[in-house]
Amino acid sequence: MNIRIGNGYDIHRLVVDRPLILEGVEIPHELGLLGHSDADVLTHAIMDAMLGALSLGDIGHYFPPTDSQWAGADSLILLSHVDQLVRERGWRISNSRIIQVLDAAHRHKSSTLNSRHTSDGCHPELPTERRGR
Ligand SMILES: [Zn+2]
Repeated sequence: MNIRIGNGYDIHRLVVDRPLILEGVEIPHELGLLGHSDADVLTHAIMDAMLGALSLGDIGHYFPPTDSQWAGADSLILLSHVDQLVRERGWRISNSRIIQVLDAAHRHKSSTLNSRHTSDGCHPELPTERRGR
């Protein structure tokens, strides 16, 4: 059995007048994440780990912020593209572990985060462990 492990990391600044989207779920909040796409930082970190595990570069290579077609893009669609890249090479995700670090003033405990994998259509079977800090 061949196994590859990728580590993903991403950070976006919280600002006013932007939606807060985490793993495809919009969280009601007065602040949102700044970015060229929907700035879904957790999904970006997952893509970063997937690409890193196969040495395929980073998400900026595939979805550059200079390309207007990705402006406001749904990161779950970007994840589908990355998933396709991984599957084309004969690999698949067997597990992921996500650690989200939020400023204590911006923590949001949401059960919707735990149900995300039923709606993204990408990895409904993906066992995911989440930890919040
Ligand atoms: Zn990002």
